[in-house]
Amino acid sequence: MNVPMFDYLAQFRALEPEFRSAIDRVLGSGLLILGPEVEAFEREMAAQLGPGQVVGVNSGTDALVLALTALGVGAGDEVITVANTAVPTVSAIRELGAVPVFCDIDPTTCLLDVGAVRTTAKTRAVVAVHLYGNCVDITALRAKVGDHIAIVEDCAQAHGASWRDRPAGTMGDAAAFSFYPTKNLGAYGDGGAVYCADPARAAVIRSLRMYGFEGQYYAEREGRNSRLDPIQAAILRVKLPHLGAAVARRRAIAAQYDRLLSPSVKRVVAAPDVAHGYHLYVVRVPERERLRTALRERGIQTGVHYPHPIHLMRGYAFLGYTPGSLPETERAADEVMSLPLYPELDDAAVEYVATTLNQLV
Ligand SMILES: *Cc1c(COP(=O)(O)O)cnc(C)c1O
Repeated sequence: MNVPMFDYLAQFRALEPEFRSAIDRVLGSGLLILGPEVEAFEREMAAQLGPGQVVGVNSGTDALVLALTALGVGAGDEVITVANTAVPTVSAIRELGAVPVFCDIDPTTCLLDVGAVRTTAKTRAVVAVHLYGNCVDITALRAKVGDHIAIVEDCAQAHGASWRDRPAGTMGDAAAFSFYPTKNLGAYGDGGAVYCADPARAAVIRSLRMYGFEGQYYAEREGRNSRLDPIQAAILRVKLPHLGAAVARRRAIAAQYDRLLSPSVKRVVAAPDVAHGYHLYVVRVPERERLRTALRERGIQTGVHYPHPIHLMRGYAFLGYTPGSLPETERAADEVMSLPLYPELDDAAVEYVATTLNQLV
């Protein structure tokens, strides 16, 4: 049996006629920048989250950059985050000239260890990464850092997750979502969005994504070009009504892995009170490369999210971290392994992955 990490075509075929007519609708409209498709998508996505606004942008990275900018983060400010995340969490902070300050993780959840967060006079924000679809306790984080520090939720992996019935993305000052094709809500190219409850701040983000304009040809502030493409918005509108069912299916697959995997396979666990979004199902194994090779030989793809903690990457050596500075983060990077999980994966494949892994550990 062959079990990939992701099956783009299975997902495409399931809704192919709807995708084609959505794309045709945009092509026939002549409205190729922002416009009604983007506005409709923004409204529909916001309606699933809460009373705030969604602003469609070019990528999850840009969503972080624009959210942090609108929250007043700039050059020299310190932004606390984790080093076991996708590089864009950190590159977004650097794009503003701000300084990422890494905090270690809780080894059971692999999330930011809120108890270990230490703010300084220069701390301006925290980017809380809801890694794998698991959620950082934003209420505890808020209590820890106080009201004067901005909290941005990195929801790139947590679309559809929630904490005590509050959707991921609605608990901080702003949230960044990514529509990278493999994410829980994936476009057919790049895309992203900011969710923000404060309408004035949402208006600033809207302006920032369009050259800083307010009105026509007038820059109220320094902005850029970071607009969600209307063809992608039309595609996302096809998928959005199915997001809840897709996340439910992800949870069912995760529950099946939970049940079938032998107790000797150590898992990254859901944090308390979290309805996990299961963008990824992650186990922690010694001898990871031996296992990955053996699984590959049996037709099973696996992933590693992520093999290198960012504080030890050459591109970020200038930040001055050394091996041993984030012990739990570094241990996790050596051990984590992601199993195949996407909504179209069937029960037989999940069972094959679990039983094969059980035989190998
Ligand atoms: C995917 C991802 C991003 C970046 O999103 P892009 O749309 O690829 O720019 C940021 N943070 C995390 C945690 C991600 O997984």
